[in-house]
Amino acid sequence: MQIDYKQILEKIYKEIKPELKKGEVASYIPALAKEKKEQFAMSITLADGSNYSVGDSEKRFSIQSISKVFTFAQALNLYQDNIFKRVGVEPSGNPFNSLVQLEYENGKPRNPFINAGALVITDMLVSYYKDEYKTLEVILNFVREISSNKEITFDPIIAKSEMEHGFRNLALANLMKSFNNFENDVKNVVFTYFKHCAIMMNTKELSRAMLFLAFGGEDPITNKRFLTKLQAKRVNAVMLTCGHYDASGEFAYHVGLPGKSGVGGGIVAVVPNKLSIAVFSPGLNEFGNSHAGTIALEKFTTYTGLSIF
Ligand code: GLU
Repeated sequence: MQIDYKQILEKIYKEIKPELKKGEVASYIPALAKEKKEQFAMSITLADGSNYSVGDSEKRFSIQSISKVFTFAQALNLYQDNIFKRVGVEPSGNPFNSLVQLEYENGKPRNPFINAGALVITDMLVSYYKDEYKTLEVILNFVREISSNKEITFDPIIAKSEMEHGFRNLALANLMKSFNNFENDVKNVVFTYFKHCAIMMNTKELSRAMLFLAFGGEDPITNKRFLTKLQAKRVNAVMLTCGHYDASGEFAYHVGLPGKSGVGGGIVAVVPNKLSIAVFSPGLNEFGNSHAGTIALEKFTTYTGLSIF
């Protein structure tokens, strides 16, 4: 049976309105605190490039931790399984910026999507390219390539604002350095990490960018291969088990798709071999995931029957 995506997205858009008052905009990054809570956008992109969107799908926002999917994919490509000497693939069951577990586990982060893990990945990229500016350029170019959009860039004001308040991430990086799990200058790597977190994209662009992960590492529109099938499977598996911090189990339970959230209010998800989705709504729940975004995705898999389970 043909799914009427347009009608389903419009139904979700109508039903989601009361939820937009709930949740809190992330305020620990002052430049993000300015976002209005009541915003919503949702987009899906299919293999033939057709796009369905509702809400303010042209409005760019700070993708924050969604960028960790892109840096993880790049590091996996460059280092293969060697990256798992420095970072694990287990859910953490802890908040995204927790220091406690890292101390117990000798500076090896649980997975690439908690902050400590993403910092190690950025450190690995800086080691590979030998320079933090070149690293950022390569990250940006990768995101531009997977989304077929040369315009994509980061917001230096958001990155600077996070750097000025980045005590916890600096602490995580320093702690890993003390365990010899950090190779480069802590400040340079953390600032590079904040810059890739500050990449600005809208839901149309994000759903387009995720398409290669829905199709085993190859973009079905351009036929460019970015990851092997096995690597794409790995990224999707980590998204499913670790993509929503200590609410990853709940996300799998309610939504049933590999997905990744960011404190900017975005969530991306993939329906393998079918489509990719992005939602945006900056009101966050207590785990730091978009409140309305999570509910919208749950509605999407319920109404379409498209989940991996
Ligand atoms: N830049 C954010 C931080 O490090 C990312 C967190 C997130 O999006 O979950 O705190």
